[in-house]
Amino acid sequence: MNDPCQIAASLLGDIDWQTEISGFCRCPGEALHTHKTGKKDCRVSVDGAPTIYCFHSSCAPAVTVANHKLRCAIGQNPWELKLPGGMILRNGDVLQAGGTVLPREIVPARARAEGRDAGEQLALETLRAVAERFKPELFETFRWPFAQIISDSPLLVAERDAEDQFRTWLRLWPAHCHVWIGDVFSSGKPEHRTHFRPVAEWYRIGPAMGNFTCGAAFKPGSYQRSNANCDGTRFLVVESDTLAKDEVGAIFAYLNRRLRFNLHAIIDTAGKSLHGWFDAPRNARIEAQLKAVLTVFGCDPKLFTYSQPVRVPGAWRDGKLQRIVWLRS
Ligand SMILES: [Zn+2]
Repeated sequence: MNDPCQIAASLLGDIDWQTEISGFCRCPGEALHTHKTGKKDCRVSVDGAPTIYCFHSSCAPAVTVANHKLRCAIGQNPWELKLPGGMILRNGDVLQAGGTVLPREIVPARARAEGRDAGEQLALETLRAVAERFKPELFETFRWPFAQIISDSPLLVAERDAEDQFRTWLRLWPAHCHVWIGDVFSSGKPEHRTHFRPVAEWYRIGPAMGNFTCGAAFKPGSYQRSNANCDGTRFLVVESDTLAKDEVGAIFAYLNRRLRFNLHAIIDTAGKSLHGWFDAPRNARIEAQLKAVLTVFGCDPKLFTYSQPVRVPGAWRDGKLQRIVWLRS
């Protein structure tokens, strides 16, 4: 038996195929789910590095074991599938969102260019394709509209006044941190040193020095917002130029609940978007995976440049307050 779809079905039971190579299946760790299981919570894909992906996180150990089995079984013998339109997909090739095939021979070259091993690169290319496939279910399952975010906040923050907003936000930072606040160009010259101050000092001054800050703290004495000047304390600030306030909450909920990145606060930028402040990824491998999926979901990859300016709560933008709308207790 060389058909990867048959092999997957022999391990997982009936699969509700959505395309030639991907469909919904029963989660191999369903018994471990702590929340209600939906029909579209778990998906299997047989291209690239064959992958079972489930929206629950409690089943992770069982899914890891099942993924290992699936990859061994499907990788045992070479196979080819004829796709509609006549294209051929071979074992290890990745079927991309637009219907093109990423040939397996390209993966090692990409891996070398980006300084990672070929296995990790294949996992990353697969993740990108898999994320494209589960994106519609993600926005459905993790739906978290703006009004719901405000009413779900563990602490009532949205109605606090400007000063309170600013001080509440400052408390997200460890006391020793030096934080930048300014306008986009308040950086780069020695006179801009005044925009880089310890948290306690900002606490006294307020946000009067600008509408922006960064998700990263800076080394004392800095006068330039650059990655080299970051001191290592940082948040991942998730934002999207394309997702509306009622849509982007799904990404925040997915990161917080499924991927277990701690959500600290959600900030209304007083414009079209919301920013989610999360713990930064622990290492470069996790960061690369997160960057791949967030880009697929419509987030801005520049959010991984930690010295990038983002809106600071407590400042006014065209008569509207930049404010925290959800805050962890
Ligand atoms: Zn599961």
